[in-house]
Amino acid sequence: MSIADDTYPVARPSLSTLEERYVVDALRSGWISSQGPYLRDFEERFARRCAADAALTTSNGTVALHLVLAAAGIGPGDEVIVPALTYVATANAVAYCGARAVCVDVLPESWCVDPAGVRAAIGPRTRAVIAVDLYGHPADYTALRDLCDRHGLLLVADAAESFGATLDGRPTGSLADVTTFSFFGNKVLTSGEGGCVTTSDAALADRMRLLRNQGMDPQRRYYFPVLGYNYRMTNLCAAVLCAQLERADEIIALRDRVIAGYEEQLADEPALSAQPVAAGVRRAPWMAAFLVGAEGDATSRDALARALARLGVETRPFFVPIPDLPAHRDPGADCPVTEDLSRRGINLPTYADLAEPAVKAVVERIRAALATIV
Ligand SMILES: *Cc1c(COP(=O)(O)O)cnc(C)c1O
Repeated sequence: MSIADDTYPVARPSLSTLEERYVVDALRSGWISSQGPYLRDFEERFARRCAADAALTTSNGTVALHLVLAAAGIGPGDEVIVPALTYVATANAVAYCGARAVCVDVLPESWCVDPAGVRAAIGPRTRAVIAVDLYGHPADYTALRDLCDRHGLLLVADAAESFGATLDGRPTGSLADVTTFSFFGNKVLTSGEGGCVTTSDAALADRMRLLRNQGMDPQRRYYFPVLGYNYRMTNLCAAVLCAQLERADEIIALRDRVIAGYEEQLADEPALSAQPVAAGVRRAPWMAAFLVGAEGDATSRDALARALARLGVETRPFFVPIPDLPAHRDPGADCPVTEDLSRRGINLPTYADLAEPAVKAVVERIRAALATIV
């Protein structure tokens, strides 16, 4: 079969014989539930890699966010500031607490939350800010740190998409008071479903350990002093993640090469603009992200996606703005940058096994598809 007969999914996990070996080892050991050596190993090594004191694995990235907010005591009547452009999980976690997600627009130069917008949205009920490292690009934690310190707010980083990124040389996982990760099947590191929280706040970490384990008193079995949750990860998932973490540099390098390939080869395409990268940022190579057409163009992205689908290239549109979703509807939200990015943004196939000739083949199909829509 020639490359031209192939189809390209938008994402695919990178799984080697190392993942296989560890997961079989975990299975044969009988430690398939939420205790076991791979869980301890992974938490220790992931914390070190993220320059944080502690890492706590969770069953996915959404409950990692909820665990953070629950441990911080956020509840009804509270407000948490989130970017308008993010995956729904960021806002859902706030709603699970009975609190209100207040959406703030993103910046055109980073696609991350605008610190000036955050400052304007802070009110008497504001308790926390969740910044999101959209498409692997860290938010402006320097400005957000300063704001949160001045207003006594918890700074949370939703780094589900940015494992491996750095800001001024510091890794995600150490840039906020507390950081959450996702290990869903399309993320940079994966265990199918999975998540993690990193923090150097020992009291918050203890509170999260308690709530993650149904709220059970560590000194007294089957006594539950508080309402908790079962948000534990299995040792089987941790086995896969131990292998992924050992291979992290290799996976990141391969994904970097895919995105660099698109950006270099498509640099002369006037209809496409690549994700901007701010000074001091090393972006994590989550998903190649481009804008289609000029500002305000509401049709070219979907036309390109349809043409590419016919040519066997799967793509994803950017997220729908949170204030446009029924569960979080806010007709008063003023988010023009989010609205524009949401209409024009497209993600291209990005995975470690997408070799250079395949990237070239996708680029050729993008050129062919663009020729049919303009
Ligand atoms: C993937 C993702 C999450 C968490 O997703 P899960 O599927 O629950 O692991 C949270 N926030 C963002 C921005 C994400 O991309």
